[in-house]
Amino acid sequence: MAIDLAVLRGDGIGPEIAEATLAVLAAADRCFGLGLSFSEIPVGLAAFAAEGTTFSDASEARIRAADGVILAPLATYEYAEGQPNPSARIRRGLDLYANIRPSVSRLPGAARRMDLVIYRENTEGFYADRSMFAGSGEFMPSPDMALAVRKITRSACERIARAAFEAALHRRRKVTAVHKANVLRQTDGLFLEAVRHVAGDYPTVSLEEVIVDAMAAHLVRDASVYDVVVTTNMYGDILSDEAGELAGGLGLAPALNVGADHAVAQAVHGSAPDIAGRGIANPVALILSAALLLEWLGARRGEPLLTDAARAIEAAVTAALADPATHTPDLGGDGTTAGFADAVVRALSR
Ligand code: ATP
Repeated sequence: MAIDLAVLRGDGIGPEIAEATLAVLAAADRCFGLGLSFSEIPVGLAAFAAEGTTFSDASEARIRAADGVILAPLATYEYAEGQPNPSARIRRGLDLYANIRPSVSRLPGAARRMDLVIYRENTEGFYADRSMFAGSGEFMPSPDMALAVRKITRSACERIARAAFEAALHRRRKVTAVHKANVLRQTDGLFLEAVRHVAGDYPTVSLEEVIVDAMAAHLVRDASVYDVVVTTNMYGDILSDEAGELAGGLGLAPALNVGADHAVAQAVHGSAPDIAGRGIANPVALILSAALLLEWLGARRGEPLLTDAARAIEAAVTAALADPATHTPDLGGDGTTAGFADAVVRALSR
């Protein structure tokens, strides 16, 4: 087996949590013989300093050629005017239509165990850069009026729904479609119609439909009842932060961006400039995102070793979190990024 992973260390806490993630992947490689190799690809502020761009065409080509990508957080708000947002370029360029965001309670003493995964549509919706052929999806006809276009297509809804139902087959066989079709009858109506259509191909999976505002409340009341949640882009963005917080905090929330031929591991959180450079960022989200990437590669290649390695990393993270001495400050401890990575590596090696 030979697997080449492109590694983009990102900005802010990115390089610190990427280092921790690579240490864990290297340990998994030693335990399982995965044949991993890592190609470092310049990105963000470091790339701008070295090459004059935050993301070059050459970098995009190398990412396209890799077997998988690990993308640490980016501080795009610090980029000079006109510099590319690498994350957006990668999502669009590789057509990563599914943003998969699991929320699992892993901290000791969680009141109710939750284990759900949100399938968020990633290519359209209420995002100004995704809805128009030319121009922005947000515009101002007058100084006192601003409008935004929300794009919803049957094909995008059907493919995210199919990804969600496929996932449900290997889980608790329940899909919850989150919408606001009572008000947005045409856009969310089309989304629901597409989900119901796809559901017809999965008779062993149950489908429930929940209005987005009710869903926000239900998650707080009892998130343990949900399995696979499928929804449009912005609802998924918001609900996954909520679910991540309920599962223990943003520092623990992983994500995988998936298309037909590519996958990119990327934490839900951002570059956390307030704690960057201090060695105290929580690396769990990126480590678990990398595990999701190995799982995706395992399913794609029919290679159980990769799946085993992914499960082992997850179990090692949960084992490390069981000891509060490893907890970084966001979890109320005084542990360090490197210390947590060491604890995961030790658990893996056991
Ligand atoms: P960005 O604009 O890049 O999204 P941000 O600070 O607005 O940056 P986040 O990076 O998501 O948004 O951070 C929100 C808060 O959560 C910050 O206080 C940050 O320190 C904290 N945080 C986010 N990720 C982590 C992490 N991995 N470990 C510890 N704290 C984190």
